[in-house]
Amino acid sequence: MDNTKFCIKCGKKIPESSEFCPYCGTSQVGNESPKQSQNSSTQLDQITSVSNNPHHGMFIGLGWLCAVISLFIPLTGIAALVLAIIDTVKNNHKAAGIVLIVFSILFFYFGMTGFGTGFMNGVNGR
Ligand SMILES: [Zn+2]
Repeated sequence: MDNTKFCIKCGKKIPESSEFCPYCGTSQVGNESPKQSQNSSTQLDQITSVSNNPHHGMFIGLGWLCAVISLFIPLTGIAALVLAIIDTVKNNHKAAGIVLIVFSILFFYFGMTGFGTGFMNGVNGR
């Protein structure tokens, strides 16, 4: 059924019968049962590509910005919370996402209990 194998060098799918990889030209002979190590290297590539995601950290950064703003404008805390949840669930960025969730709730609470107005009154000297 499975007439393909993976190149021992670049990991691309190539026909089972090929002696040389059509992508990188590496000889495929002399490797009798490389299936397991190839699979694990493919998984490693996937993990690496996830952590190299260029959007990685964008939601966290924006989320922190919204969390800080929510001290003054409590509604922004909801945006911070949404961004934190998106980052935690979608980008599989759990540790940083959960920290942001906790802080956005905390900052939202401070915003609701008048931290912003108190701070602004202090700045204005009233
Ligand atoms: Zn190759």
